[in-house]
Amino acid sequence: MTQAPSLAIVVPCYNEEEVLSETFSVLDGVISTLIESNKVGADSKLYFVDDGSKDKTWEMLEGKAQVDEHVVAIKLSRNKGHQNALYAGLCSTTEDLVVSIDADLQDGPENIEAMVDEYAKGFEVVYGVRSERKTDTFFKRFTAEGYYHLMRKMGVDLVFNHADFRLMSRKALEAFKEYPEANLFLRGIVREVGFSSSTVEYERQERFAGESKYPLRKMLSFAWEGISSFSTVPLRAITIMGFVAGLLSLAMIVWVLGVRIFTDSAIPGWASILLPLLFIGSVQLMCLGILGEYMAKIYAEVKGRPKYHIEKKALYDKH
Ligand code: UDP
Ligand code: MG
Repeated sequence: MTQAPSLAIVVPCYNEEEVLSETFSVLDGVISTLIESNKVGADSKLYFVDDGSKDKTWEMLEGKAQVDEHVVAIKLSRNKGHQNALYAGLCSTTEDLVVSIDADLQDGPENIEAMVDEYAKGFEVVYGVRSERKTDTFFKRFTAEGYYHLMRKMGVDLVFNHADFRLMSRKALEAFKEYPEANLFLRGIVREVGFSSSTVEYERQERFAGESKYPLRKMLSFAWEGISSFSTVPLRAITIMGFVAGLLSLAMIVWVLGVRIFTDSAIPGWASILLPLLFIGSVQLMCLGILGEYMAKIYAEVKGRPKYHIEKKALYDKH
């Protein structure tokens, strides 16, 4: 019999004290079921990354790691955000398979088994895909789905309705780690990496407890992160806008001059001076802003700062 592959489940946690004990018991259950059915090896592990939490998250993770041989707890030096925390966790693993999942149990850990089954069929990457968004508000659903369409229009290859619940083989993960970018948009990078992939559909649940750590402001900035990291269409749009505005101005000039030369009247009024001026002024500012956004990205990339620092790790203490 061939030896079962070892599995790592990576869980970023930011102020998750309210959900953690439930998360522990659910993920413990998932791991032991998989080990018992010999789908994954007995050396499989849970990696919890504390992303600079201000509540009891670290104490809980450390306590759990000390008594459970399947658990590794990692504390980052400060809050670095979900994507960086997840990246830190992924880079800390050594197992054959790596699954990333949120701490709040929204993504249904019971689906991990289906992911492992897909891997067993030979797929290197397995994407968790939300089959429906019953638990999301109309606004969230509308904006999220609109976003995937917009990204696709901009030539960015994303898996529709896939967030960061996925399985990667060691081979895919090692390739993924070769992407050195400072601005992380993991679901885009994984698509960029390629390899044979499959999907597992699931229904997204309500957050088990606590509040979302992604308020509207962060969500918008994350959405823009995705667009600006994977597409230069906004820059192209500026050029096109310049052309269109130029043509319109030309038409207007011809019209104004025509009226002046071929009739006895002239176009009167301050409005025809001020309005185009204000309009073009604001369009220019917006375009400068977009340019600035890309420049800020280059700035971050050029500095090449480390994405995270590990302050400490807690492991099982045999004694
Ligand atoms: N998270 C994190 N760092 C942050 C914000 C969030 O590690 O700065 C973690 C959080 O603990 C959770 C996951 O990222 O495990 C997803 O966050 P959340 O559930 O709040 O997002 P939502 O599901 O509402 O989009
Ligand atoms: Mg959540």
